[in-house]
Amino acid sequence: MSSTLTTDIAIIGGGIAGLWLNARLRQQGFNTLLVEQHQLGGGQSVCSQGIIHGGTKYALHGALTGSSEAIADMPERWRKALSGEGELDLRGVRLLSDAHYLWSPGSIASNMTSFLASKAMRGRVDAVKGEQLPPALQDKGFKGRVYRLAELVFDVPSLVKRLTELAGNSLLHSPKLSPLFDAQQQLIGLQAGEVRIQAQRYILCAGEGTQDLLNQLHIDKPQQQVRPLHMVLVKGAALKPIYAHCLGAGSKPRITITTHSAPDGDWVWYLGGNLAEADGVARDEAAQINAAQRELRELMPWLEQTGLEWRCARINRAEPAQNNLVRPDTAFLAERGQVLVTWPTKLALAPDLADKVISSLTQQGIQPTAQPVSLALPQPSIALAPWEHLFN
Ligand code: FAD
Repeated sequence: MSSTLTTDIAIIGGGIAGLWLNARLRQQGFNTLLVEQHQLGGGQSVCSQGIIHGGTKYALHGALTGSSEAIADMPERWRKALSGEGELDLRGVRLLSDAHYLWSPGSIASNMTSFLASKAMRGRVDAVKGEQLPPALQDKGFKGRVYRLAELVFDVPSLVKRLTELAGNSLLHSPKLSPLFDAQQQLIGLQAGEVRIQAQRYILCAGEGTQDLLNQLHIDKPQQQVRPLHMVLVKGAALKPIYAHCLGAGSKPRITITTHSAPDGDWVWYLGGNLAEADGVARDEAAQINAAQRELRELMPWLEQTGLEWRCARINRAEPAQNNLVRPDTAFLAERGQVLVTWPTKLALAPDLADKVISSLTQQGIQPTAQPVSLALPQPSIALAPWEHLFN
């Protein structure tokens, strides 16, 4: 039998954007319902590398850009949340590293070195040596330079788990979701399986699923772009932790490595950066693993690769459409009547996205009015990250 649930805000999609926003809105007194069709975090979020960028990656061509400035506050906001003093209480979430590193395999071109030492970058980067180097680079064969960035790396599955706790009874698992319109084609609710949802505002936080929802809602703009990645995972007892971008010739890191634990306790390196971009996307799995092995042989000739296990994962980044498939600079929000369309564009920017939504709701005069949902609803489970299931 179908039941109708009335709530203040319906959020569609339980990745980092939807979960963070849900927790913030609940804290502000709104009653919310978050609908997830598969598993929480199971889109891009648990596949992300968990780096809370402060923008340095976007300054690799030697200048600060719109995005490096917009994202600069994020590490501090996440750090405060982790200590229980921020906008959300993220105490208990696992921090994998309290710094991310920038590593040059040779000597960094002199304009880059002076840029990293410049006033604009003060407080964001420090050169490190010897025992301060990431363990994986502490080898006498290592000849490059390393800078410590004031950025964090989170264990995203534990972050999703904490945000799920903060969601209380606001979650609903529904594999099917469709909009309901009246005779004048005005949106009057959502049908989520057996449940009919009525809300003051409907917020799309559905990652790659957003375009399909926009089509169903007859919203032409914004449009979505997807930028694919072909990530590589390598596991083995020989690996030591490292969280770093390796500088290449271009403005993007040649390779970005984060370190996670496999269920059997071995370290897993999760390899992204340029390796996973266009040329990597064009390679099949065997060729992509070969390319990763070649890169690591060049960059870390001391690493014994015998006995390492290799896997690949293809994941799309979903974002608002831009000219030439470039990366948008900040979290994105568009208001379309009762519908708000969002893409955070980076996990790190989830707090920025929530700010934008809250300020839009305030401007539109949306106030909490609904009663909390008291029904026992089907609950979504939490997704496993690639390093948690690909080596089984
Ligand atoms: P998603 O995590 O994709 O969540 C969308 C959710 O909506 C999913 O759970 C999906 O099942 C659900 N959904 C879809 N359609 C429907 C529907 N019709 N009904 C109900 N639910 C629906 N960013 C960083 O800041 N740092 C990083 O280190 C980083 N690394 C990355 C590495 C990779 C490989 C990738 C792909 C991205 C990375 N990003 C990183 C970007 C970051 O992961 C994303 O910007 C962010 O996770 C997007 O979150 P989201 O909640 O918008 O989307």
